Amino acid sequence: KKKKLAALKDFRERTLVAVKPDGVQRRLVGQIIQRFEQRGFKLVGLKMLEASEELLSEHYCELRMKPFYHGLLRYMTSGPVVVMVWEGHNVVQTSRTMVGHTNPAEAPAGTVRGDFSIHVSRNVVHASDSVEGAQREIQLWFQEKDILNWDCCDQTSTGDV
Ligand code: GDP
Ligand code: MG
Repeated sequence: KKKKLAALKDFRERTLVAVKPDGVQRRLVGQIIQRFEQRGFKLVGLKMLEASEELLSEHYCELRMKPFYHGLLRYMTSGPVVVMVWEGHNVVQTSRTMVGHTNPAEAPAGTVRGDFSIHVSRNVVHASDSVEGAQREIQLWFQEKDILNWDCCDQTSTGDV
């Protein structure tokens, strides 16, 4: 029973992914969502908003002292963002791999940043960097009621419902 519970928990790992303002403006939302769907992750939360400075200063609190911090806030408030919660086995680490290195110059082709961006100040996408960080960020961006638990049609025994 314990084993079953652990397996369920592992399957329910969640991460926060966001298409940043440049990604939205460049019409990349669909392609980015497609990559996560195609990989096999489950979309359990999705919204579009203009993030406030207050929210972003909380989200990026660890970067407060960095020289690029104010530019980062200006970037992130330059237009709407699309924020998502994705769920599945090892989703935090796999998402980081799919997104690629923070600096697009070091992100291999095949990653979101490696395919769609050239400069660290406009790197298209965000993904949480740890399970704990993901939990913190999900709570920050989403209300619990806006994250949905749903089952797949291909995991139920009949279509006659
Ligand atoms: P991430 O987790 O890969 O997004 O990277 P970090 O958490 O270290 O930084 C957050 C975001 O700040 C990055 O995605 C970039 O948009 C931005 N950033 C990080 N480093 C730099 C930098 O050296 N210069 C500039 N202009 N922006 C940076
Ligand atoms: Mg980060």
